[in-house]
Amino acid sequence: MECENISIIVSEPDVVIRTSNGLKIPAFSGALVSASPVFEEIVERRRRKGRLDKAVPILGVPSDAVLAFVGFLCSPRSESLDQNEVMDKYGMHLMVLSHVYRVKWLKDLCEVELALRLTVDSVVDVLQLARQCDVPKLYLQCMKLLNKEFAAVEKTEGWVFLQNNDPWFELEILKFLEEEDLIQKRRKRKMEEQQVYLQLSEAMECLQHICTEGCTDVGPNEAEEAPNKQKSLSCPNYTTCHVLQNLIKHLASCRANRSACSQCRRIWNLLRLHSSVCQFTDDCRVPLCKQFKMKMNMEGKGENGKWRLLAKKVVSVKVMSSLAKKRKHDLLYKL
Ligand SMILES: [Zn+2]
Ligand SMILES: [Zn+2]
Ligand SMILES: [Zn+2]
Repeated sequence: MECENISIIVSEPDVVIRTSNGLKIPAFSGALVSASPVFEEIVERRRRKGRLDKAVPILGVPSDAVLAFVGFLCSPRSESLDQNEVMDKYGMHLMVLSHVYRVKWLKDLCEVELALRLTVDSVVDVLQLARQCDVPKLYLQCMKLLNKEFAAVEKTEGWVFLQNNDPWFELEILKFLEEEDLIQKRRKRKMEEQQVYLQLSEAMECLQHICTEGCTDVGPNEAEEAPNKQKSLSCPNYTTCHVLQNLIKHLASCRANRSACSQCRRIWNLLRLHSSVCQFTDDCRVPLCKQFKMKMNMEGKGENGKWRLLAKKVVSVKVMSSLAKKRKHDLLYKL
């Protein structure tokens, strides 16, 4: 884009912009004023003093960036403005200018364009820019990329420069990365926990199903009496069911001390959890349910509270997962 283009587009330039290297860009004050409240003030002040002919300086950025800036304000739809090329070269300068001259639409455009162009090499510079120009969304995008690619970013000139010149900002970034890491870890732990509750909830469902409807070779007496009845039709999860059935059979036949036998302990805990979520009063068919309920009534709040809390979590996870049900049985080996 050349300076001449501007003068062609703006038919009657009545103001001149002066850049750092002395380039004079003719512009139309009406367009500048309507685009920017800062220009409005400048032009108004000059008009009052009768000095509209005095060039308005825009310094500290390359002349071509100023040229592009004026081009955007005076003729944003001009074909002479290759937006992509301009953003590639001067996106960051345009962000500064649109921030300083308060041209919101151009600042928004720069935000989008800079985000699209974020790379490991540019991220530190864009991050500093986003911070200076108060663009929180872009700032966060930079931080996320920094977090993801920190090993590579650490080697860039931008990072080394920042370390040498702005240790406070470096600290701010490192603190953010540390917090982000903690959040990720917490999220992962939470998901793992949810998974365990989900598996427990499935086990509870299976237990109920085995003891009321019967499934393959474990079930209530009525089912055994009526061998033609198709037992496994409503099996909620065959794998879990199978493991549970084996555990139930084991509990009935194991002669070892319960606290010494891991399988007994596993099914014992599941049966106890069942009694904490069980809504039936007298007619529950799940083994030991009634006994556990009586025990819970007699027990102090401490032990009882733990089971109730676990039961509450299991029930709430079951509600949440009722739409997206997942099948896992690993838990049976963990409990
Ligand atoms: Zn089953
Ligand atoms: Zn056992
Ligand atoms: Zn029960």
